[in-house]
Amino acid sequence: MVAPPPKLTISEWADKYRKLSKETSAEPGQWRTERAPYQREIMDSLNDPRIEKVVVMSSSQVGKSEIINNTIGYYIDTDPGPILMVQPTVDVVEDYSKRRIAPMLRDTEVLAEKVADSKTRDVNNTILMKVFPGGFLAMGGANSPAGLASRPIRILLCDEVDRYPNSAGSEGDPIALAEKRTITFWNRKKLFVSTPTRKGASRIELEYETGTQEKWCVECPNCGAHHPIVLRDIRFDHEIHDAGSRKIYQVHDIWWRCPSCFEHFDEYTMKRQPAKWVSENPIAIENHVRSFWLNAFVSPWYSWKQIIREFLESKNDPELFRVFVNTVLGETWEDRGEQMKEEALISRIENYPADLPDGVLLLTAGVDTQDDRFEYEIVGWGRDHESWGIEYGAIIGKPDDSQTLQQLDDILSRVYRFEDGKGLKVACTCVDSGGHYTSDIYKFTKKNEHRRILSIKGQGGPGIPLVHRYSRNNKEKALVAILGVDDGKSSIYSALKVQEPGPKYCHFPNGRGYDHFYFQGLLSEKLVPRKKNGVTQYVWEKISSSARNEALDARNYALAAREILNPNYDALEQRLKGVVQASVSPKKRVDAKKPLVKRSNIW
Ligand SMILES: [Zn+2]
Repeated sequence: MVAPPPKLTISEWADKYRKLSKETSAEPGQWRTERAPYQREIMDSLNDPRIEKVVVMSSSQVGKSEIINNTIGYYIDTDPGPILMVQPTVDVVEDYSKRRIAPMLRDTEVLAEKVADSKTRDVNNTILMKVFPGGFLAMGGANSPAGLASRPIRILLCDEVDRYPNSAGSEGDPIALAEKRTITFWNRKKLFVSTPTRKGASRIELEYETGTQEKWCVECPNCGAHHPIVLRDIRFDHEIHDAGSRKIYQVHDIWWRCPSCFEHFDEYTMKRQPAKWVSENPIAIENHVRSFWLNAFVSPWYSWKQIIREFLESKNDPELFRVFVNTVLGETWEDRGEQMKEEALISRIENYPADLPDGVLLLTAGVDTQDDRFEYEIVGWGRDHESWGIEYGAIIGKPDDSQTLQQLDDILSRVYRFEDGKGLKVACTCVDSGGHYTSDIYKFTKKNEHRRILSIKGQGGPGIPLVHRYSRNNKEKALVAILGVDDGKSSIYSALKVQEPGPKYCHFPNGRGYDHFYFQGLLSEKLVPRKKNGVTQYVWEKISSSARNEALDARNYALAAREILNPNYDALEQRLKGVVQASVSPKKRVDAKKPLVKRSNIW
C-alpha cells in the first residue's frame, strides 16, 4: 500500500507548483511565498477547517491578486469543486481572466494538464468559464446578476469588493447574491479582498470588523515589541524644491520609530525583521472569519521612499490624499469635518497687519438668519481660492426689525482696508431666507440687489451644485439663489484640511469673533452614510443635536457668494494695483431682464 501524498496547504502548493508568468510578473518563474511572508497565513487560513471566510483589507501592490490566483490554482489541482471569482465589472473580470488567469493556467504545469486551453475551442472553456475534472471556475462582474446567480458554488473569491455597485442590475447586493450560492456546501470557503474606500461605506472594512482583525506586526530590533508599520511612526528628512507651479520633494532618510522604545530603524533593517500576524479580535474565530490588514510599508514591491514621496505630493490635495490613504496606507477615508479638531484650527490663528492682509482680492459675506439674530461672516478670497476669515459676528434683534436690518446694512457697507490704506467692500452677500422671516429678508435683499445682496434658500442632499439655480418666484420678486448646501460643506471641509498656506488654505485672524465657539460651529457637522431605497448616500448631519452650526452656514453662504461672482483673480489683482479696470462678473446670467448692476468693489 502506498500512503496518500501528504495534504498540502495553499502556500505549500504554490511553493511547489505555481509559476509566475512573464507577462504578469516582474519576477517570473517559481512562486516563493517567502518573498512576501505575510501571504502565507492569509492563504493557509483557507485550509483551516474552522474558517469559512477570509478577509484581506490592504493597500494595493501587496500581492492580493496572487493570493486569489494561488487559491484558484490550489482548488483546481487538489480539491476541485465549483469556484466563482467576482470582479467589480464584467469588463474587469474579462480582462483579469485573459491577463492573469489564462497565463497561470498555461504556465503552471499541473493546471495546464487539467484545464483545456480556451483557444482549442473547447465549448467548456470560455473567457468567463473554465471547466476541469471535478469542477469549474466561473468568473462574473458584480454589475451583472447573470454571472452571480445560477449554479451552487463552494469556493467564492470576491476581489476589490469596495468597487462593487450597490446592486447587481436590479437583483440587489452582489455580495449577498454570490454568498447565497454557497449555502448548500458545508465546506464552503469565501475570500474577500479589497483596498478600502470611504469609512462607513466600505464593505471590506465591515467584513474586516466581523473577523479576527489581524495586523502584520514587525519585531522591534531593540526592544522586541511587535508593531504594525504605520505612517505616524515614520520619521523622514526631506527637501522641497520649487519647480514653477509645482513642488518637487526630495526624500533623504526615512526611519521607523518604535512606539515602545523610541529607537529608530531604517527600511532595510525593518524589512528583514521577524514579523507575525497579531489579532485584535481573536474571538472571531468562533464566527469562522479571519480578517487581515496590511499596508504598503511591508510590501516588498513598494519602497518607503516612494510611499513618503507620494504622501508629500498628495497631502495638500484632499482628493489625491484620499487615494493615498486608501491605496497606500490601506485605510478607509473619513470625510468628516469633526476629524479636524478645533485646536488644530485655533493653532493656525494669525495676526493680520490691518483689516485685510495682503493676498485678499475680493470680499464676500454670508448671513445666517435666526429668529432673534443674524450671524454673519466676511470672507476674503485670493488666488486659487485661498481664503481669509475677516470678521465673524452676530447682530442681535429680530430680522423684521428695521434697526437690526440697518445694522446688517452698515456692516455690509463698510470699507475694509489694507495696511497701505487701499480698501475693499463686500462684493456679494448671500442672506439666508429660510425660517420665519422669509418675506422680510426678500424685501431687504430686493432693495439691495444692486449691491449684489441676494436671498438664498438652502437645499440639502447629495449631487446638487452649490449655486444650483435662481428664482424670482415669490411675492416680493426678490432674486433667490437656490444653494446645494451639501456641496458647499464638502468644499469647506476639504479646504480646511489643507495644511499649508497657498491654494484653498483657510486663514483665521486673532480676535474678530474667531473664538473657540466659532471653530466649534465651523466643525459642527459630519458626512454620514444613510441608506435610501437600498442605496447608500452621504448626507451632512450635525455632530450632536445641540451643536450650533451657524458658523458653518455663514461660511457656506459666503462661499456661494464667491461662486456667484466667479472671480477672475488676475483681473482683480491688476485692478488692486491700479493697472487696469476690470470687474467681477456673475457666473451665470442670473436675470436677463435685470442684470445685476456691475459696481466697483474698490474704494
Ligand atoms: Zn522597540
